Amino acid sequence: MVLDAPRIPLRPGELPEPTAERGQVLLRVRACGVCRTDLHIVDGELPKPKLPLVPGHQIVGQVVDGGERFSPGARVGVPWLGWTCGECRFCTSGRENLCDRARFTGYDVDGGYTELVVADERFCFAIPEAYTDDHAAPLLCAGLIGYRSLRLAGDAERIGLYGFGASAHLICQVAVWQGRRVFAGTRAGDDDTQAFALSLGAAWAGDASEGPPEALDAVIVFAPVGALVPAALRHVRKGGSVVCAGIHMSEIPSFPYELLWGERVVRSVANLTRADGDEFLELAPSVPVRTEVETFALEEANEALGRLRRGELRGAAVLVL
Ligand SMILES: [Zn+2]
Ligand SMILES: [Zn+2]
Repeated sequence: MVLDAPRIPLRPGELPEPTAERGQVLLRVRACGVCRTDLHIVDGELPKPKLPLVPGHQIVGQVVDGGERFSPGARVGVPWLGWTCGECRFCTSGRENLCDRARFTGYDVDGGYTELVVADERFCFAIPEAYTDDHAAPLLCAGLIGYRSLRLAGDAERIGLYGFGASAHLICQVAVWQGRRVFAGTRAGDDDTQAFALSLGAAWAGDASEGPPEALDAVIVFAPVGALVPAALRHVRKGGSVVCAGIHMSEIPSFPYELLWGERVVRSVANLTRADGDEFLELAPSVPVRTEVETFALEEANEALGRLRRGELRGAAVLVL
């Protein structure tokens, strides 16, 4: 499924078969998760994607050929971080997620909305055996970037997750398992999502802009809604953090300084490091994190993106081949 230009539907296309170059693996795609970032790319909200582009960066594939790290037939995951330079000040200080020259899967290089894909084997992960292909796919971005966000929220005991979609439904389970109390913020009146959050162990679920009845230690904002940033600042106690987990957000409205006063912190989370992935994929089966997925055929990619755009999914959308 090919993006020829932003803001038009993906087109089913016949592409030449990719071949693995040195250090790459050729994978037969078994499943590929649909991420909100894919939607931002398709909707033209992120600058300069490779065009034409095959989107998708939560790939579960089977090794056909190439590389040395994995045997043919092994099940491998390909995340958003596809390549880094290894030399810049970020790469050499444990922050490869910020590499100036990073290449991202399904953005700078072709991704997984397809049958065959190549990937740099150094950036691939082994898939935990406990997960089927479709249930493993959302771990690769929703899970591990959500996990990075949770880590950067510090030791918050009362944690808000605003925007309860693919990422929050996984991170809620980790946070509850860690002994935190989770406060799930959704769109006003979204009873289904609120019930879903409560079923996953959230202590409270309600309208994110109103916030819960007690002060929080941190909020992770997953929804691409800038107005939730000042709202979340209003909901955190002194010294609390607001972590913005998405790659794109609508404009943040201006707000009085007193909302930030008291050593409150606003920060973003960008991309992932391989260490985040290793840590999360080891943790996920022991919690165990259960992924709620809605599956689509490859040629239904536009429908999956549409459902995500309209907020009609429960959990994560996954294309299954
Ligand atoms: Zn670098
Ligand atoms: Zn993603």
